[in-house]
Amino acid sequence: MRNKVANFRGSDEVTTPRRQVLTALRDLGPQTRIELARQTGLSPTTMTRVVAQLIDDKCIAEGETVSRRGTGRPGTEISIVADSYFVVGVQIGIGFVRLGISDLLGNCAHIDGFSYQSGTPAGDVLAQVGHQVVNLCRSAGIPNSQLLGVGVAVPGPVDQQQRRLLYPINLDWRDVPVADLLEPIVGVPVVVEHNVRAMALAETRFGLGKEADSVAFVYLRTGIGAGLVVDGQAFLGGVHGAIELGHLRVVDGGARCVCGSTGCLETLFSEDALRRRLERHGIDPGNQQPFAVMLEAAKTNTDLHDEVTLLTNHLATGLSALINLLTPEIMVLGGALSLASDEFVENLAMVTRDAVFPVIRPTVNLRRASLGMDAGVNGGATVALDRFFYI
Ligand SMILES: [Zn+2]
Repeated sequence: MRNKVANFRGSDEVTTPRRQVLTALRDLGPQTRIELARQTGLSPTTMTRVVAQLIDDKCIAEGETVSRRGTGRPGTEISIVADSYFVVGVQIGIGFVRLGISDLLGNCAHIDGFSYQSGTPAGDVLAQVGHQVVNLCRSAGIPNSQLLGVGVAVPGPVDQQQRRLLYPINLDWRDVPVADLLEPIVGVPVVVEHNVRAMALAETRFGLGKEADSVAFVYLRTGIGAGLVVDGQAFLGGVHGAIELGHLRVVDGGARCVCGSTGCLETLFSEDALRRRLERHGIDPGNQQPFAVMLEAAKTNTDLHDEVTLLTNHLATGLSALINLLTPEIMVLGGALSLASDEFVENLAMVTRDAVFPVIRPTVNLRRASLGMDAGVNGGATVALDRFFYI
């Protein structure tokens, strides 16, 4: 029988004193040694040793002497030196790649990217990713000695060692050794994670989910997917950890889906489906997100307004299923959903609330993501920081 604990990424790792100190500084901001000892429960000897090592590594530094009520003697504040080391976050999407450089506190900058044709071999795309990572760091003036690693958010399940992309449903790539292909080019270690789970982690570590114990992140772009983080750890689910929200059947006898089933949520919400719906109304979204274009057009087009209402109901069916089963504290709407209007989010929350078990209703908390369309870059960076810095 599977070990229950193995359903969470990172749960098999020992929590080291270094990790305790660093995550306390990340989550709570600058702390004195006394405050850090209280937060982590570490002995004074261990605390002194760990802090000295980290100062020696230049990734934390001493600042002002402060005296806070209730903490006894004045102490010197310690904080993470955010720009002492960096990671690169990469999102490999369907037909596009985005990448950026993140500091130790998850702030991403120098964001860049490229698009690729469907049918391009994985090796070609990854070679281009590798060279862009190198160029990005060079132009930002970051030497490899300051680059801890690269985190790649991919559109499909990954292997247990987090080095391979197994089988993305919207690409014809299979079992791609992402880390093995990138590492010789970038010269630093690479870690791979399912894109939506990576975004959920980013939102948990650095965004809306900082205060919550459980966060579900729902991402709409080419398709629709969800990721769950509980107690700071990514939930892996049954097989390779994908929560396939997009493949929940919401329409009986509905359209055929790429997964082989019919009536999936994704048959209504995929970028292609939304685009076709707009075209039926004579609207060409061009390079804009079709979902955002549809919401805008529905303000003046009553037929489209009715269709948005229908879509809202179907999405609420999907979200309510997720809430009934998993009861996350916060449900974060990301990707194209982060572009939705207040009115849409309020309506969606109302319909979702009506569809969940009554006792759970008051806890339904839908929020637009704090991370924008480049949430995958933040996601990749967060996974790299977890793996290569907060250890
Ligand atoms: Zn499907």
